[in-house]
Amino acid sequence: MMNTINTQSSCADDNEQDTLSVEHALQSMLANISEQAASEKIHLTDAVDRTLADSITSSINVPSHRNSAVDGYAIFQADLPANGDIATLNIVGQVVAGHAYEGDIQQGQCIQIMTGAQMPLLTDTVIMQEHVEVHGNSIHIDDRHNPGQNVRQAGEDIQQGQVVLQAGIKLTPPQIGLIASLGISEVCVKTPLVAAVFSTGDEVLNIGETPRKGCIYDSNRYSLIAALKKIGCKVLDMGIIADDPDKLRDAFELASKHSHVIFTSGGVSVGEADYTKQVLSETGAINFWKVAMKPGRPVAFGKIGDSTFFGLPGNPVAVMVTFYQFALPCLQKMMGLTSPLIAPIIDAKCTHSIRKIAGRTEFQRGILSKGNGDEWEVCTTGQQGSGILRSMSDANSFIILEHNRSSISEGESVSVQPFSSLF
Ligand code: AMP
Ligand code: MG
Repeated sequence: MMNTINTQSSCADDNEQDTLSVEHALQSMLANISEQAASEKIHLTDAVDRTLADSITSSINVPSHRNSAVDGYAIFQADLPANGDIATLNIVGQVVAGHAYEGDIQQGQCIQIMTGAQMPLLTDTVIMQEHVEVHGNSIHIDDRHNPGQNVRQAGEDIQQGQVVLQAGIKLTPPQIGLIASLGISEVCVKTPLVAAVFSTGDEVLNIGETPRKGCIYDSNRYSLIAALKKIGCKVLDMGIIADDPDKLRDAFELASKHSHVIFTSGGVSVGEADYTKQVLSETGAINFWKVAMKPGRPVAFGKIGDSTFFGLPGNPVAVMVTFYQFALPCLQKMMGLTSPLIAPIIDAKCTHSIRKIAGRTEFQRGILSKGNGDEWEVCTTGQQGSGILRSMSDANSFIILEHNRSSISEGESVSVQPFSSLF
């Protein structure tokens, strides 16, 4: 007879009980998040990467006047010569950018014009200076021209009254230029979210502290703060909170009073000293989830006061994976941002086999590159343990192995999510 003991389900099981799929967990989080409404007016030169709070409507035509697209000669299209003919036109004036030609011009005449200069009244076509022969005070042109050529029409870029940029976009350099072209110097943008970040655990040391036996330096707080700053959050660095219920309670209370969102790492699984979980349970508004994913299985989410709370796992890679997959879409919603923070998923050929069991989503760290052909290829960054942060820092993408998928053979197509410029 075989001896057995009663064990509990864990992340080592093929099919762990009571887990939530990644999609379900994210939907539940998003359903509990609302847009943060505050906005502020700032100067255009400070607005890059900020979220536009009010749509921008143009009060002018851009360009405001018909102008020449090249250096050349403004003419009447009726003066273009017939097939095989040459036309001779008298130069009766000159106009440079920033000025208008006020004199008269009649058929058979032309005005020398510079790029950007306003078209003289009734002229409608410009011949490039390289395409004419100049003889004293006149030009010769041949039949290789089209009526209306080389003229930029008033309002061809933007029309008066047109909505040029929609609220919710993250302003890019060309959009900043576009706003400037409308003569607008100030824009209304969303006020940054304030994120409080702290680490938990007696074993976690501040950088600069003398190493102690059995301790590790805090990396999670630094990677989280860097990621939050990168997306434009203001960060409150709350340091490391020891595994002590009173200290944790005080820290949560303080953070909730001064932030829109709180991030902690560690202490949300079933360890003996994981007081984070105990203290948070007292607030009543936190869910503790076992998400069917690897890495990142234990995640806590909910509210402390008015602040949204993310209790991320302790392992450094799990922190980054759960931040990317859960926190980023939630922060995007809170910021009222329509431009996606997360890159679209593409298909790539996996250059080697990967072992996987169905029943959870895996986020392996990948290096995506163009293969010998024109096809995208991906390989993992080697050892994939959730404590091996180098697997993440060497990577440029996640290889997403979907919930129901089992092992991958060499050459099979897999879903890859580039980090884009975030990580
Ligand atoms: P926990 O969920 O608190 O049991 O933590 C899981 C693992 O993550 C443990 O090995 C911790 O030492 C490690 N860990 C927790 N917090 C941090 C941190 N801030 N930086 C680096 N590793 C951490
Ligand atoms: Mg801990």
